[in-house]
Amino acid sequence: DVPYQTILVTGGCGFIGSALVRHLIRTTDAQVVNVDALTYAGHPSTVAPVADSERYTFLQADIADREAMRQAFDTHEPDAVMHLAAESHVDRSIDGSDAFLQTNIVGTHTLLEVTRAYLDAADADDWFRFLHVSTDEVYGELGDTGYFTEETPYDPRSPYSATKAASDHLVRAWHHTYGVPTLITNCSNNYGPYQYPEKLMPVVILKALQQEPIPVYGTGENIRDWLFVEDHVRALCRVLADGTVGETYNIGGHNEKQNIDVVHAICDILDTLQPGADLSSYCDLITFVTDRPGHDHRYAIDASKIERDLGWTPDEDFASGLQKTVQWYLAHIDWCETVTADTYDLGRLGTAS
Ligand code: NAD
Repeated sequence: DVPYQTILVTGGCGFIGSALVRHLIRTTDAQVVNVDALTYAGHPSTVAPVADSERYTFLQADIADREAMRQAFDTHEPDAVMHLAAESHVDRSIDGSDAFLQTNIVGTHTLLEVTRAYLDAADADDWFRFLHVSTDEVYGELGDTGYFTEETPYDPRSPYSATKAASDHLVRAWHHTYGVPTLITNCSNNYGPYQYPEKLMPVVILKALQQEPIPVYGTGENIRDWLFVEDHVRALCRVLADGTVGETYNIGGHNEKQNIDVVHAICDILDTLQPGADLSSYCDLITFVTDRPGHDHRYAIDASKIERDLGWTPDEDFASGLQKTVQWYLAHIDWCETVTADTYDLGRLGTAS
């Protein structure tokens, strides 16, 4: 359980934020205030299953809008912030980084400043927590061996990860300089329902069902460490409830997979659930395309700190999580069509973040 009465979640209409909002409403007694600007990646449909709850409030606002954030804090008086709002897609950050700097850096700075003023006015902060949700991509890339620990030096290599690294540094600075009671998590690649269809898994599923080429970057040998989104959400709640202020926790699923193996596994599940007409296997659609510039080779998380100190371990194994994910997309093709109405070039394949 989470010992907070009012939790302000930013980015709660996105992939992970919405899983968090649904989890908080279903498993705690907390009031949940969801602050989301509803960019292309945010859709109220992701929280529709819990939106009728009396404990749920939605506020459409930009986290970089200081006055709107001040009002949100003054009106709802949160005792915790779980900050997930971000521009999150590496390929988009390569195409244009302005929105990434604005939301990930300026937006995080704005939230920290509003939090600081709010805590100063209350003249105490021991009852409050600011949990900043970040990525393992801040650590750069690994060779074929080794793991990211909380001590791994930062080495971000894409515009996306550079802005997330900057936001992590701001959060640490606001803790050390102003005493804001912060926590940081750095998590590996998430998968599961409601992921916007520009990331690896939903792109593969949708391309396969449309019987179009399934584009895979390079040779498909890049390695990611996959975690089911609901395991991530449980980890965030563990950190919020029992994490030590000022500390960082890595979160990962011990699920290292080459992208090409993930693509094959999805095709195999689809071959069973919904065989494609005129195809012996959806794998026949796999097409290797020019690699993403600066494509990191491997990410892998050492999650022993959160496992040891907070007793968190992932519940979902990869095979069953993938099966659930594919089944969810098959049942929600209409959702995918609705949320991609302002379509981006989905012919380009991201590697899931
Ligand atoms: P997402 O892109 O699916 O959702 C982002 C949400 O933030 C959307 O609802 C969007 O409308 C909202 N948003 C964007 N800019 C905003 C702004 N200026 N003001 C208010 N709301 C805004 O992202 P996600 O995959 O759910 O990721 C959530 C967080 O977790 C991000 O901070 C990301 O860096 C981090 N993370 C993601 C992964 C992953 O695999 N997806 C892994 C580790 C960490």
